[in-house]
Amino acid sequence: MVHGNPRMTGGCQCGAVRFAVQADPVYPHICHCRMCQKAFGGPFAALANVRHADFAVTRGRIARFRSSQTVQRGFCADCGTPLTCEDDDSDHLSVAICSFDDPGTLAPERQIGTESRMPWFATLDGLPAATSEQAGNPDEIAAIRATSHQHPDHDTQAWPPAGPDTEAGPDAEAAKETR
Ligand SMILES: [Zn+2]
Ligand SMILES: [Zn+2]
Repeated sequence: MVHGNPRMTGGCQCGAVRFAVQADPVYPHICHCRMCQKAFGGPFAALANVRHADFAVTRGRIARFRSSQTVQRGFCADCGTPLTCEDDDSDHLSVAICSFDDPGTLAPERQIGTESRMPWFATLDGLPAATSEQAGNPDEIAAIRATSHQHPDHDTQAWPPAGPDTEAGPDAEAAKETR
């Protein structure tokens, strides 16, 4: 159970699930194993470990899929964001690094599951690179930002925000003014 000021907070994309940890996550790592690839729908899972005693769900509940006899995968049932990997026999769970509100502080220190590592993994950093604005239509990017339903990277009293215009995101007031 988490009391007082949490060390870090996080949650899913839609905000139905929020969590807090009482101690700094340890062993930040990436796992290339085929089960993590499927569970995350990505080339690898980025995870860090937290003791169950230091982890608390502060909004909603984590849905779980038992991916094997000993492991459950936690996710948001509303939006599908992968959140945890939980071994039944462990005193800790692994939390998806990028589900934290400030994931940049959790730099991976190790990679595992390398038997399934994508053959192109090592080439990623050399690919041509662009910001969202550089890669997309600026009007479309602005429209996405103005109508985002993604929960912000901090705790909120209620989500989606109460009011007549709950269809739009945090910039709804600004968008209305330019309508
Ligand atoms: Zn969600
Ligand atoms: Zn894995």
